Amino acid sequence: MDKKIYPNFIAGAWVAGDAAIVNNNPSDLDETVGRYAIARQDQVADAVAAAKKAQPAWARTTPQVKADALDQIGMEIIARKDELGALLSREEGKPLAEGIGETMRAGQLFKWFAGEALRLHGDRMPSLRPNLEVEVTREPIGVIAVITPWNFPMGVAAWKVAPALACGNTVILKPSETVPGSAWALSEIIARSGLPDGVFNLVMGDGATGQALTTHKDVNGITFTGSTNTGRAIATAAAPRFCRLQLEMGGKNPLVVLDDADLDLAVECAFQGAFLATGQRCTASSRLIVQENIHDRFVAGLAERLARTRIDHALKAGTEIGPVVSEEQLAQDLRYIDIGLREGAHLVFGGEPLERQTRGHYLNGAIFTDADNRMRISREEIFGPIAAVIRVKDYEEALAIANDTEYGLTASIMTRSLKHASHFKRNVETGLASVNLPTVGADYNVPFGGRKNSSYGPRETGEAAREFFTTTKTAYTRSA
Ligand code: NDP
Repeated sequence: MDKKIYPNFIAGAWVAGDAAIVNNNPSDLDETVGRYAIARQDQVADAVAAAKKAQPAWARTTPQVKADALDQIGMEIIARKDELGALLSREEGKPLAEGIGETMRAGQLFKWFAGEALRLHGDRMPSLRPNLEVEVTREPIGVIAVITPWNFPMGVAAWKVAPALACGNTVILKPSETVPGSAWALSEIIARSGLPDGVFNLVMGDGATGQALTTHKDVNGITFTGSTNTGRAIATAAAPRFCRLQLEMGGKNPLVVLDDADLDLAVECAFQGAFLATGQRCTASSRLIVQENIHDRFVAGLAERLARTRIDHALKAGTEIGPVVSEEQLAQDLRYIDIGLREGAHLVFGGEPLERQTRGHYLNGAIFTDADNRMRISREEIFGPIAAVIRVKDYEEALAIANDTEYGLTASIMTRSLKHASHFKRNVETGLASVNLPTVGADYNVPFGGRKNSSYGPRETGEAAREFFTTTKTAYTRSA
């Protein structure tokens, strides 16, 4: 077994810690993916000091140099997508094709933000007052803490680190302790890209490592993706010093199916949104709000689709759904299945742990019917392969239920009615809305984010990313 302990990356050097995270494969608990050093608190402080020291020179570095570095990182990620995708799938449990797809997306994000480094521009205009001119320029915000969750270990790191660097900030990346391997591999590529020492740093560890970062006075901005509870804790810790915040948090996303929907398409979109990636997506369709005339056919179709789904080792050919990521998450999923039963919902399919050739956290997808929107399974984020079907009489009731939630990330409607599709897009209280598509899936050149308790602060990805990673300066000059 590989006894190596993968170190942290601080101030341009690989640095050992005192203790290590042991990362196991959720598809095969007898396999260790790797051991990763836990950064000590003084090492976190060293990373912040290095990032602070490096930031002014990095801000002054030409856009071409920044773009070339980001492009090189993106190219290497794409060239190694099969190997890195396999590592991702081994530690997170998503099927290999999804691991490779996410890795590819991470490479594309670096390449897109390489272009953004070149596209950052300001405005110059006449003043409202005589003989003055006005310039509005964008400046970096300084040292950015990037704190990422376990469900997209490459993708989320890329869509935060790349724009932060493109805009002239320096970065400290803190990945989830559950999946440090992909972040380490990404950091190793970044470390060889020619960035000056301190521009990019990696500190691994658990929530305490994250907390050491978010409470550090020299961290100027925090971009976080994770649960709403952790987001709230970070905001509480960082707001008193007016730290800039970008928080992407939980979801309880509705997929509305109207009577006039294409049944097969509705079933497939619900299946993809609720169950692929083991339901472990902030954009997962955990509430299926279904009109009464299509309800029974839709439920039967979805159960039939799940019944022929291959749930197995993430690296096995033909696997559609891998294991749950960890023992804790599996316990949470099973607890919510029990809660759903006790609340009076009807478990029409699945929900039981599965045994496979290898010892892993396998769980059959679960469909609850007779759910109502007051039940905990309809209100709380479960983050597993569990969907609650809520029966409604018409579109108006469906929209009201879709919006009756503390979350507001994404929503979809399945319908052939232009009237209802248009009304839904305008009136659903989310940051992302789709018609005849799953709630999952997003492009990286447009804004991503939600409302209510799903998001706080400026949007991620696309040009919108610059709103968080830069601050504007308005300069006036007497011209005569
Ligand atoms: P967590 O909130 O548990 O953790 C997210 C990150 O924060 C991890 O790196 C974690 O470290 C770290 N952390 C934990 N406590 C603190 C703290 N007090 N201060 C600073 N950092 C801390 O989320 P999960 O990793 O469990 O991810 C699942 C959650 O992420 C779901 O709720 C999901 O909805 C959300 N998510 C949201 C997305 C979005 O874009 N809206 C996208 C993807 C996921 P460690 O894990 O090592 O303890």
